[in-house]
Amino acid sequence: MEAIKAPRGTRDILGNESWKWAYVTDTFRNVADDYGYREVHLPIFEHTELFCRGVGETTDIVEKEMYTFTDRGGRSVTLRPEMTASMVRSYLENNMASGPQPAKLWGAGPMFRYERPQKGRYRQFVQLDVEALGAQDAFVDLEIIDLSMEFYRRLGLSNLNVVLNSVGCPKCRPVYRKALQDFLKPRYDELCDSCKSRYERNPLRILDCKSPICKEISENAPSIMEYLCDECKEHFSELRRGLDRIGANVIHDKRLVRGLDYYTKTAYEILSGDLGAQNAVCGGGRYDNLAEAIGGPHVPGVGFASGIERVMLTMEAQGCSFGREPANKVYAVAAEPSAKLETMNLVRTLRMNHISADMDYMGRSLKSQMKSAGNMASYACIIGGDELAKGVVTVKNLGDGTQEELTPEQLVNKLK
Ligand code: ATP
Ligand code: MG
Repeated sequence: MEAIKAPRGTRDILGNESWKWAYVTDTFRNVADDYGYREVHLPIFEHTELFCRGVGETTDIVEKEMYTFTDRGGRSVTLRPEMTASMVRSYLENNMASGPQPAKLWGAGPMFRYERPQKGRYRQFVQLDVEALGAQDAFVDLEIIDLSMEFYRRLGLSNLNVVLNSVGCPKCRPVYRKALQDFLKPRYDELCDSCKSRYERNPLRILDCKSPICKEISENAPSIMEYLCDECKEHFSELRRGLDRIGANVIHDKRLVRGLDYYTKTAYEILSGDLGAQNAVCGGGRYDNLAEAIGGPHVPGVGFASGIERVMLTMEAQGCSFGREPANKVYAVAAEPSAKLETMNLVRTLRMNHISADMDYMGRSLKSQMKSAGNMASYACIIGGDELAKGVVTVKNLGDGTQEELTPEQLVNKLK
């Protein structure tokens, strides 16, 4: 029988890598703290309906990427493909409207999308997600973009482009939508199959199509900027003034879109120059009509989500530091079997003093225990007959080879 493997598009994050993940998440947690966002833990699965309505029936996610199944109670549930819809659901369900506004939330955890696995694209991946719910103010959009940039700055990332656009609102977008359809109509037959179906359902997404022919056809399409209503125009220029004020280098990309009615005004992405095809390290924007789409009252919101795997790929490509890899300080060596009990006790004393320590459990010889120490730790602490008699430990600095005899108390004080 062949051994069972992990499902396609998933991967095991093991000890040689997991400390890097912790570093990135800790950095994110600190940034979120500094900006006044509080962590929430939301379910990994939700009623399928939440995503159909909260992500949108015409999105790739809902059309072809969801892990949906019927549970034993006969309900349709879905492994979350993103977190925004859950955040808004949670805001409504927990009546956060009665607390401080905007509610500033962040969360981290695995997302699930049935996609073709490739570099930077997995079926289970981790997002770091930030949402501010309850405020219209363009300064909140500014805060969100600033927070994401600050996160990447603290990780030491460079070669990132912030691309920004406005997608208008249900007042002004329909006019633009019509103008775009009129523009595309003469060459409708040449569009790719996906874009043919987008033409009626979600024509703005045609601007986002990667196929060369669709790109060429939409090249000189009218820009949404000329169609924005006064409110959306003012929101966009206020955001741009703010970004100028903080010296943010942003590119206005008139083709950046989110086609759905509840996405409003700000849309942005941060692209890495070191990632190839899957180059978005984060995507975000405003969604003032999402709460209503999932059955709630009007609650404006803005946020972003960043894929941790792509952030880490970019960091690796740029040689960024991940802080320090955890390593044992001490490897305790029993020079003879009779010293094993005291060796164990020394290890325990060190651990209780927050000094990481380990010992041999494989019945190895003195020589191979010393080898383990050399591979795993900064100090070897040897206990044999002599040491037992004197109540001391021989402490060998594995860096410079120097050696001294210390009592356990002296050792703790030295290494603490
Ligand atoms: P893409 O265009 O790359 O498919 P998206 O528009 O589907 O991205 P969002 O839904 O905005 O992405 O998700 C936000 C972020 O989550 C992305 O910018 C990316 O960093 C990350 N992400 C999305 N899908 C995946 C995936 N399958 N594997 C790894 N990371 C992903
Ligand atoms: Mg996608």
